[in-house]
Amino acid sequence: MNTASTEFRKRVRMALADDELQHAMGRAKGGFVLNRQKAIAEFPEFHQMTDAARDIKDHVLMNLDLYLEIYEKKVLENGGQVHWARTAEEASTIVEGLCRRSGARKITKGKSMVSEEINLNEKLEKSGMQVIETDLGEYIVQLASEKPSHIIAPAVHKTRNQISKLFYKHHKPMGYADKVSERKEIVQQARSVLRNHFVESDIGITGANFLIAETGSSVIVTNEGNGDLTSVLPRMQIVVAGIEKVIPSLEDLSVFLRVLARSATGQEISAYTSLYSGPRANHADEEGPEQYHVVLVDNGRSSMLGSEYQSMLRCIRCGACLNHCTVYNVIGGHAYGSIYPGPMGSVLTPLIDGHENNTDLANACTLNGLCRTICPVHIPLPDLLRNHRTQQQRRKLTPFTGRFFFAIWVYLVRRPHFYQIVLALPIWVLNRVGRKSGVIKRIPLANGWTNSRDFPCPSAQTFQRQWRAEMRKFNA
Ligand code: SF4
Repeated sequence: MNTASTEFRKRVRMALADDELQHAMGRAKGGFVLNRQKAIAEFPEFHQMTDAARDIKDHVLMNLDLYLEIYEKKVLENGGQVHWARTAEEASTIVEGLCRRSGARKITKGKSMVSEEINLNEKLEKSGMQVIETDLGEYIVQLASEKPSHIIAPAVHKTRNQISKLFYKHHKPMGYADKVSERKEIVQQARSVLRNHFVESDIGITGANFLIAETGSSVIVTNEGNGDLTSVLPRMQIVVAGIEKVIPSLEDLSVFLRVLARSATGQEISAYTSLYSGPRANHADEEGPEQYHVVLVDNGRSSMLGSEYQSMLRCIRCGACLNHCTVYNVIGGHAYGSIYPGPMGSVLTPLIDGHENNTDLANACTLNGLCRTICPVHIPLPDLLRNHRTQQQRRKLTPFTGRFFFAIWVYLVRRPHFYQIVLALPIWVLNRVGRKSGVIKRIPLANGWTNSRDFPCPSAQTFQRQWRAEMRKFNA
């Protein structure tokens, strides 16, 4: 087993043994799912909209170069600048250079998964800048020196008690003597602390839910309004976005807005949908940044174009596949060891970070297919995970024992008659062991299964034997 695999298993074991995490995940898992169901039930055109969203994304991906060029031209016309980054390192270096050259000391940030992907905070902090996350969930994980554990709810793994302690520890030296524990008090205190940072910030950095080619606008969809204060108040605004975020027009945006919030949080629409198209116009605008930069990040995305993984570039980061994933809901996001957890992360991470470091992700899945059903842009996530498994098997990245057993299994299933003979004995033995209690507590070489659950006692005969017996009776 390679080091990445050992580490993954270690993280999973820790997550399963972490009572507070289990409590937080147990409390969170139903809410998003039920709210989504309700929102969809109230919007009969939802499925038509998801088809339209998929088609728009597919059209853009077929013509990505064209739409990115139109988008860039529009941003330049609006007075902004566009920077192209091939890798994560290039992207973070571009942003760090912009911040350093402008003499920035304090930087506020809106929630941006791509900025996590490129390790932006670490880069800026190494250069001596103070980075403040302003999304409440991101702010909480920043105080805890952690990474987000969910792409739309970064602190979903934290209990209220943990947040209360964190705030007390970090805010007491700032003069907040009382420990806050009620939801409203926690939000109020975060607002109060963040307000000063917004005012003092030199540069605001956000991600983008969409980039609109026809207007050169970046769109952010939030529920807290922090993205707007981050964008508008500082003297420079930097938008960091993956190249796949571009869509053709405002009309297309209306399709995505109708599926995004419903899929993500079950809202009809998020509280704030803001479009930014450039710096403040001289003399015309009283507020807004003096400089507007967009950093377009490739980082493995263009190599997905034209490949069997192209559909993954449709992802609008709604988080619905995480909310519905049986594995994610038990182990939480950090166990994946990647900034993108859950089904979408298990597909995406090996594509941008390599299979070698992420061999277990494709296997951390029951292939129940629910993520495919609920994905608002119809990404066939289980098929893509299966592709990953095949590639890993071919490249011999999976453990030798797994490959050995699969080789035996393939040999047997290609010889059905022999398969029957070989299986008859172990099934008979398992039946003898478990027939009294109806379950088997322990199976040699299958501890991974029986350590946490009982194995149901199989019937004394294989299905095919029973079937043949039935057919004989039927024909007699
Ligand atoms: S893969 Fe689909 S369901 Fe998952 S985050 Fe992306 S768009 Fe949402």
